Amino acid sequence: VNRFDGKVVLITGAGSGLGRASALQVAKEGAKLSLVDLNTQGLEETKTAILEVAPQAEVLLLTANVANEEEVKKYVEDTVKQYGKIDGFFNNAGIEGKQNLTEDFGIDEFQKVISINLNGVFYGMKYVLAEMKKQGSGSVVNTASVGGIRGVGNQSGYSASKHGVVGLTRNSAIEYGQFGVSIKAIAPGAIMTPMVEGSLRQMGGENWEEVGKEFVQPNPMKRFGKPEEVAYLVAFLLSDQANFINAAVVPIDGGQSYK
Ligand code: NAD
Repeated sequence: VNRFDGKVVLITGAGSGLGRASALQVAKEGAKLSLVDLNTQGLEETKTAILEVAPQAEVLLLTANVANEEEVKKYVEDTVKQYGKIDGFFNNAGIEGKQNLTEDFGIDEFQKVISINLNGVFYGMKYVLAEMKKQGSGSVVNTASVGGIRGVGNQSGYSASKHGVVGLTRNSAIEYGQFGVSIKAIAPGAIMTPMVEGSLRQMGGENWEEVGKEFVQPNPMKRFGKPEEVAYLVAFLLSDQANFINAAVVPIDGGQSYK
């Protein structure tokens, strides 16, 4: 039996990385999808990849900026208009922002990261939870980070935003459990996605792969995670199998956050 037969899954940041990998996984398991990203071309590529592995999947593409409340309200409305409900919500879009000492962190850069990674997650929850409460069911998975449960350094905006995502997750989980809705977060370590490749290229230019090998040496497993590995976790957490997991923040990091 497919875990997502008849289920509707909404994913933000679905045009790349973890969002795309998770979309592919739940589509393979029968989900109808509503995919949101700022990058329309990335969304189209995700849809093409989905139709290769799940030819009969229904896929709605919605270009939106998660930092804009009106646009978030609209992607939720458009999803409900199309499918009539939302069973799973992977609230995942985010950016890394600049790497800098705290004293060198400009307030504009700080606000930019917060507006996407934290405001964006809040808006998504605000509008999706209202629907799920009406339905009396649903699962929300927010993307936090290792940087949301411990200090990593040089990431004031990112770290503040991801700690905020953990706080929002725990707060709303306490409120919505009584309506049959569970809310959890994942805390990925370094996963090899275009985001991480981009920051390795900033550090190492042409030698970015060498820099990457050095970068993962402190990790107990001495490697990057793969987007598919995160997708398996996300699919489980979005499925009915994880209904009683509520307010949990699940690390997926090779053990890094317990070192
Ligand atoms: P990615 O850059 O591959 O994908 C992120 C996607 O989000 C992109 O398609 C981008 O266009 C989209 N996006 C960015 N800003 C947006 C906005 N304002 N509105 C709508 N869409 C927007 O990165 P990824 O590694 O897949 O990251 C996904 C999430 O995972 C992020 O929240 C990131 O912080 C988090 N994360 C990633 C890692 C990692 O190592 N890759 C680790 C911890 C947490």
